[in-house]
Amino acid sequence: MLATIPVAQPEHLTPHDLVTYFRCPYEMELTHELHARRLGREPPVPRTPLDVVPLRHSPMFAPPLGHVLVNDGCLDLSDQDQLVYEDANEEDLPVLFPSERVHLDPRFTNGHANLVDPEMGLAGRPDLVIRQAAGGFVPLEYKSTHLFVGYHEAHGRLFDTVQAIAECRLVHTVFGRRPPYGIILYGDSAGNGAHEGWVEIPYGDAEERWLKVVLAQIREDRVRAPVPAERNCASCEPNGEGLCRYAAARYVGAHHHTAFLATRRG
Ligand code: SF4
Repeated sequence: MLATIPVAQPEHLTPHDLVTYFRCPYEMELTHELHARRLGREPPVPRTPLDVVPLRHSPMFAPPLGHVLVNDGCLDLSDQDQLVYEDANEEDLPVLFPSERVHLDPRFTNGHANLVDPEMGLAGRPDLVIRQAAGGFVPLEYKSTHLFVGYHEAHGRLFDTVQAIAECRLVHTVFGRRPPYGIILYGDSAGNGAHEGWVEIPYGDAEERWLKVVLAQIREDRVRAPVPAERNCASCEPNGEGLCRYAAARYVGAHHHTAFLATRRG
């Protein structure tokens, strides 16, 4: 009788991991450790060696940036669009659909919110998934505290692009149709809607190829170096817990990044 050879599972990653790695690979390592501790699990040992040399920039390849569609104002929805998925763990999501157009997929209710792609070893939760009138599916990520003003100057938007592409892949896998784009909705709850806007991040062959490449890049990275910089460290959660000895700034809160960009624009 032949023995079964176990197949190695790829390291589990989330869209949020990609965003974190894009800022600072060491932050991703420490975030995994922190979350494991909070859940009472055995924390993974960070790969980063003690004699690591900090980097000036994350090694992650930047996502393709072609044909991003930027729109001012409220999100444009058709009367035929329906809400088919909502991350129940998010409390501040906008109400975009009347109840008669909410038809949540029962696979993702009752605490089973994760969209999983076993082939890529990717799992995560978009804020919303919209089924459009023509039958396609589109993920939506809501940024309640991000001003839409200055969209083009804000390099932080690249992080949103990374997240949108990864969520498009999850929606493609789970709902069976490739989204043409992912939506980032900038809600500006602090400004009473004065700076609302939304962006369509295209999702095609180039974006899917990029995603495969960066997932492999992250998994093959045996160092996961720190990238100390004020814009990273001031909003780095593990830094807030005193876990990083490379920090270039004191932790001031998760929303520092937005404020930092606003002052740079001002
Ligand atoms: S404090 Fe800075 S260098 Fe350290 S993990 Fe966080 S972002 Fe990286």
